[in-house]
Amino acid sequence: MPFDRFNRDISYLRISLTDACNLRCVYCMPEKMTFRPRDELLSDAELHRLIGLFAAVGFRKIRFTGGEPTLRAGLVDLVATAARTPGIETIGLTTNGILLADLAEPLRAAGLRSVNISLDTLDPEKFKQITRWGQLDRVLAGLDAAADAGLRVKLNAVVSRGRNDRADVVALARYTLAQPWQVRFIEQMPFGNNSEFQIPSTVSEDELRGVLAEAYGPLELVNNGRLDGEARLYRIAGAAGCIGFISPVSKPFCADCTRMRLTAEGRLHLCLLRDNEMDLRGLLRGGADDAALTDRIRAAVLDKPWGHGLEQHVIPTRGMSEIGG
Ligand code: SAM
Ligand code: SF4
Repeated sequence: MPFDRFNRDISYLRISLTDACNLRCVYCMPEKMTFRPRDELLSDAELHRLIGLFAAVGFRKIRFTGGEPTLRAGLVDLVATAARTPGIETIGLTTNGILLADLAEPLRAAGLRSVNISLDTLDPEKFKQITRWGQLDRVLAGLDAAADAGLRVKLNAVVSRGRNDRADVVALARYTLAQPWQVRFIEQMPFGNNSEFQIPSTVSEDELRGVLAEAYGPLELVNNGRLDGEARLYRIAGAAGCIGFISPVSKPFCADCTRMRLTAEGRLHLCLLRDNEMDLRGLLRGGADDAALTDRIRAAVLDKPWGHGLEQHVIPTRGMSEIGG
């Protein structure tokens, strides 16, 4: 088991497959974004090798993310590798859903069991504004395909004041009445590349619970408030699914953090909201053997910092898409 200095069981790796994306969500990246050249990204072969090494160290959960992970041609094979790697118990994917309609079934056949789809609004015009050019109907087709393929569905909505903090939240939560899905509302976080969207535009969990209670009546706490991953779960009375709140700003969950990130260019990013990183790609490409690589992974776990520094105005230099969301 990989425990860090604070006795947290660091067993969940989020692997960014690319920093590139087919959308430009306003809170995530600027419209004119330069992406890394292909040879700077870890290759499929390097990723297949690393998945085995992380499992050997004791990691049990892998999530593929990005940038947009469905842009990566080798995604289905990477899922298949993770699924047959001894020790890996859970595989997830976080996607904007634009390319999911054709991929949902192959991904399920490769071993994927659940998918997180990012969707901030059900209003097509607003969706286009938030993503700068995205077509909502493509995401909805991806969502349908995921449900038809039998994947467990979670929807992730980043909520921002004045943009999607009321009617959109109420409309997204309505899905849970009939569907066994989790609809999760994420507090918008500040990053170095989205400085015009800082903490004042973050809408807190408490405020959103009030908005939902007005529309649906008081929400019932699920699991006595025990976090499901990073989400605190609630249910509208009688609903099939749950509503989750991911509240790193107003209710930090650092004590329960189990994750580390591997950036697309092969750096271990130790806390989403801090800059601490350790390089793996240099070792890999320098011919390091498995023992040297696993030593570096263990060292990174031990070096994982405690707590983020948002209250002290410490924000990560790079954006979410570059780190791996
Ligand atoms: N492209 C994929 C997607 O959008 O699902 C995966 C990568 S994206 C960076 C992962 C998650 O990060 C998405 O749910 C997105 O909404 C969220 N995200 C991006 N920027 C954020 C920010 N400033 N604050 C909070 N969440 C953010
Ligand atoms: Fe792309 Fe996801 Fe960032 Fe939106 S949140 S720009 S879909 S990486």
